[in-house]
Amino acid sequence: MMGSHTYTLEKGEVSVFRTPTRRELWEAVDRMLAAHSTLLPDSREALILIKPNLNSDLNSLMGNSTDLRLMAAVLTSLVERGYSNIVIADGCNVGVLRRGIDVIGRLRIDRLAARFGARTLDLNRAPGRQITFADGHPALIAEICSDADLCISLPKIKMHSDADMSCAVKNMVGCLVGRASKKALHRDLTGNLVRLYELVKPHLHIVDGLVAMEGNGPGDGTPKRLDAILAGTDALAVDLVVSHLVGYEPQQVRFLARSLEKGYLGSGDVEALADIPRGWLLEKPPPKTRLAEVLSHPVFNRPKDLLRPIHSTRIAMNLLYKAGLIQDIYDERDASVTLRFDAGRCEGSGRCREICPVGLDPTCEGALSGVECIGCLYCYFVCPSEAIHLEGELGFLERQIDRYGAMIRSL
Ligand code: SF4
Repeated sequence: MMGSHTYTLEKGEVSVFRTPTRRELWEAVDRMLAAHSTLLPDSREALILIKPNLNSDLNSLMGNSTDLRLMAAVLTSLVERGYSNIVIADGCNVGVLRRGIDVIGRLRIDRLAARFGARTLDLNRAPGRQITFADGHPALIAEICSDADLCISLPKIKMHSDADMSCAVKNMVGCLVGRASKKALHRDLTGNLVRLYELVKPHLHIVDGLVAMEGNGPGDGTPKRLDAILAGTDALAVDLVVSHLVGYEPQQVRFLARSLEKGYLGSGDVEALADIPRGWLLEKPPPKTRLAEVLSHPVFNRPKDLLRPIHSTRIAMNLLYKAGLIQDIYDERDASVTLRFDAGRCEGSGRCREICPVGLDPTCEGALSGVECIGCLYCYFVCPSEAIHLEGELGFLERQIDRYGAMIRSL
């Protein structure tokens, strides 16, 4: 039986659903859309934007990007209601963008979208509208984020070494167009996250708490299974509830503290948290080293850009990663793999069937090589007996499997 609860803050309601199975996830998403039916456009041709968090090419089971299972459930609910003009769009982070890595393709968002007749859009290359950040710097926000008839944001719950926590407000960073806008954001991350809250207002937030990231997020933390999703119409209300559930006080999350100072959240919102049990304590990001703190100052942006040919080599990145100065090691090498099921090793856990975002049974003959399979690798990652193999060139997957393979199997 699906568990759910709705919490009422002055800023708005936030519903929490426990969804340990795919059926419960799909039911919860359908109930959320039904509960917010007044937001749904009358026209079935209306433009609907689904805005996941596609920060990098880390598979969502590693805790970084929005889960394909949630996206599939939202797409199913919308398509069943007759909507036919759906776009899934986001813009990856600067490091990934600089290397020309196709996150939408690597995460199989394009294949998932195609199954539902939806399109994908890279917001880093989308038409933008000029805005001004808190410190007066200009930036561009993708026009579609405010022009869509319905915008559903699908943020991921992550600990974040710079922003303390990433969820509904932080998900709007992906609406910024291109490197210059994202770099401008980081000149005053706290102030500019609040600015983004002022400027971009999705109609509905459905939070992915299926597998969260704790510790050294957003790029190098530890996946933690929460089996939950949340919904609300106000990003700050959603983030305040999530921050409480994961163990933060409002003052510990800098953009929430700033929002309280500015009056976007009030004492009544904070007092309402007293009735909410802290459900999912997550390990907080470790403090940055003094050197990392110093080097993250905007004054070093220009020297870092000049030295990029040196510090972006694989050897240098590995050294910087080991020294705790960077979280991510991006890999331009694409993967070219096929999946193979080894019946002799299968112990019948059924985890592959339960987790497949498109409802396939990977143990059935031909399932992994058929057109229905989007190649997301979820079944490969969760199989406890390693009965699903990858054959071919691992490319960027090599490091991800080394770093996260065993962690995901143990979730
Ligand atoms: S069968 Fe495996 S790789 Fe294919 S879509 Fe399902 S979970 Fe993803």
